[in-house]
Amino acid sequence: MDEPVYEMLWDCEFCSTRKLLGKTHRYCPNCGAPQNPAKRYFPTEEEKIAVEEHEYHGADRLCVACRTANHAKTKFCVGCGGPMEGAKSVALVSGGGPEGPDRAAMAEVKEWEKREHAGKLKLAAKAGAGLLVLAALVLLGLRLSSKEVELSVNGHHWEREIEVESFRTMKETSWCDSMPLDAYDVLRTREVRSHESVPDGEDCKTVRKDRGDGTFSEEEQCAPRYRQEPVYDHRCRYSVDRWARARSENARGGLSDPPAWPKVRLKREGACEGCEREGARKERFTVAFDDKGKTRTCLFGEDRWRSMAPGSKWKGKVNRLTGLDCSGLTSLP
Ligand SMILES: [Zn+2]
Ligand SMILES: [Zn+2]
Repeated sequence: MDEPVYEMLWDCEFCSTRKLLGKTHRYCPNCGAPQNPAKRYFPTEEEKIAVEEHEYHGADRLCVACRTANHAKTKFCVGCGGPMEGAKSVALVSGGGPEGPDRAAMAEVKEWEKREHAGKLKLAAKAGAGLLVLAALVLLGLRLSSKEVELSVNGHHWEREIEVESFRTMKETSWCDSMPLDAYDVLRTREVRSHESVPDGEDCKTVRKDRGDGTFSEEEQCAPRYRQEPVYDHRCRYSVDRWARARSENARGGLSDPPAWPKVRLKREGACEGCEREGARKERFTVAFDDKGKTRTCLFGEDRWRSMAPGSKWKGKVNRLTGLDCSGLTSLP
């Protein structure tokens, strides 16, 4: 063993003598009571007493008959003379930081806080689960709470739209390695793109280990430390010429107007700055229903839209969440 070894301390529980030495004082020098290994603790940094040329044989063992702590190698109990065969090792003191006993207390507090925190988490999880179940029930309730309604057709509308795009210069920004090939007027700057962990020495602390025989050892434990370093890259600001939505032309009508696409007048055709072209086309066919004075609407394909005669009666379901179920309408005589 190369690590330095020190005396544990213990308090006599019979005469209240304090800070007795774990290895030197197997018995209380004041009243003669045997050392109780359960009363051992780590000294403070100032109270540390080194043990020279200490030979370690293992943690003390407790006599089964009289509970006296005996050296690991003892064959017959020094307290009662009984055989030490099958005796168990003493419990080790934990939490041996440089502050000694206070550390142990702190560890206890920490342990307690951890338990409390875990308890709170469990409570929170339970509450969360409860809320989820409640939300699911409410949703289910709303979903189920649809009612049957009678509807009559009271309107037909169609709308057709053509998007108009114009060719123009756009200002864009991206990392230079993903800049479009046709970009121009490029301005490059250096900017932080990400961070990387760089080794930055190590954090070390002294850890005390109870050896169970009235002594403890100290050991340096180190863990690597890292710092975050910015990684720079080139950011590009540039111009590109692109087709982009500029406006839209619309046409509207009812059942008696044949659906038609709006007239589109382009400013200029070609691929010049400010030139225009037609983009996407969209059409919507809407039927309006009367539901006891309330208007409900559905979107249909043109054929279905045309087949629903004005004034005709329909049966359907209205859901409180999703509204009228347009795909489930059945015709009434
Ligand atoms: Zn004593
Ligand atoms: Zn004994």
